[in-house]
Amino acid sequence: MAARARRGDNSKRTLFVTHPHCAEHRIAHHPEQPKRVEAIEAAVLAHFGERSADFAHDPSPPDATAEALGRFHTKKHLSKLEGLFDKVEESAQAPLMDPRRGRTKRRTMLSIDEDTAVMPRSRAAALSAAGGACRAVDAVLGQENYHSAFACVRPPGHHATPSRAMGFCLYNNAGVAALHARATYGIQRVAVVDVDVHHGNGTEAFFRDDADLFYASFHQSGDDFYPGTGLAKGAKQGFSRGRELSVNGAKVAGETGINNNVVNCPLGRGAGLRAIRRVMEEKILPALSAFAPGLVIISLGFDALAKDPIGGLNLDPHDYAYLTRSIQDAAQCKLISVLEGGYDVREIARGAVAHVSELARLAKGAKPSDDLRRLRGASVISELSSGESWGSEQSYGDEDDDVNTLVANMSLDSVADGAMARSPTANRMSMDSVAERPATPPLLPQPPPRRSPRGVSPGVLPVEYGADGSPLRRSPRVSNGHAVASQPPPAMPRIE
Ligand SMILES: [Zn+2]
Repeated sequence: MAARARRGDNSKRTLFVTHPHCAEHRIAHHPEQPKRVEAIEAAVLAHFGERSADFAHDPSPPDATAEALGRFHTKKHLSKLEGLFDKVEESAQAPLMDPRRGRTKRRTMLSIDEDTAVMPRSRAAALSAAGGACRAVDAVLGQENYHSAFACVRPPGHHATPSRAMGFCLYNNAGVAALHARATYGIQRVAVVDVDVHHGNGTEAFFRDDADLFYASFHQSGDDFYPGTGLAKGAKQGFSRGRELSVNGAKVAGETGINNNVVNCPLGRGAGLRAIRRVMEEKILPALSAFAPGLVIISLGFDALAKDPIGGLNLDPHDYAYLTRSIQDAAQCKLISVLEGGYDVREIARGAVAHVSELARLAKGAKPSDDLRRLRGASVISELSSGESWGSEQSYGDEDDDVNTLVANMSLDSVADGAMARSPTANRMSMDSVAERPATPPLLPQPPPRRSPRGVSPGVLPVEYGADGSPLRRSPRVSNGHAVASQPPPAMPRIE
């Protein structure tokens, strides 16, 4: 790729990192699905097109090394995951006889907890995800000297603690990248700002004990929202009442870190940009600025979007441009972002375009401070998205249905955004293009919000899945083992 060939003149460019392996980890009827990265990649590439002066794409980052993974994760965790990968890969090669059904079938998935499972391609995806995050670090801190980089990878990472996989996450990609930056480039202080709707308990579990690491997060809290960690400093209610408890295996108490290097800003359901701006500008950004990191990593979850089927916050895709520039402005250092959650496929593609566009704009020298008072500004993305019904409901199945239509629509959005984003007048004009858009699908009922906690995970309980992909397990929230092709998708896991 041109990305690697153009050394020395990348300081005003953003690198977009993807890997085909990241679309190969596929758990049937799971909201954390391959289309998430496919849609983002299609939309971002369509948006930037030939504008290679701003942007480069690396679709083949190397796998994360065992050394890199071992900086964040325990040996036990790594060996347990390796064992699961080995087992599911072997099982997929060796059909088993199911005596109850009297026929052979393949065990194609193994569950780690109610939300988290591996299948035969999970090893490749997870190594590419963590490797992609490290590649982003190399791009900005190494000789290539990119301004910024976005690792569009999955499975996500921020719930994975040093010692366990959970919440859809196998390796903690952002955490591994942070430690890679320190070990490889001598960066003393690394910050992670987590904008996912969920608290990144896994990242915090490592960062809280190291004064040279900083973790800040706003996230939905209350109503038993997953994962239950992330209470603010001084919180007097709930489980943080001065006691140290274990929630999903992670110790929680105070949650301020060893040196006030953890900043948690829990928000109630329904909080939108105004509330998020308040906690960003009163708590997170000043603390980030005072920490003076040598690298800032955005744990870039798009499940804080209003249309997300899991999260209950109320952001607009374009608000991710605000988050991007405000974090860059406060950190005043190199920036990478690593994809975490976000489950409305169309919306996350819009959020990603807003994010990468803002990175490209900042790379060219735009002053973030100039825009901090602007709320949604010329939000082409938000206007185009209003009233539409694209959502994850369409995407739960395994069939590769709407991706082409999605790409076509995103291209249109991207053109409008790129051409019109500079003035409200132009922005209004862009609405003309809405009439030319293909008909949108009919409104589908929204699933109820998923707010219950996972509780204490039962641990590693290998579970068989049928040949049709339906899990043969006892949870009331999943299929009872019958074919599900003609049924509505089962209740989806509630977290990421
Ligand atoms: Zn999330």
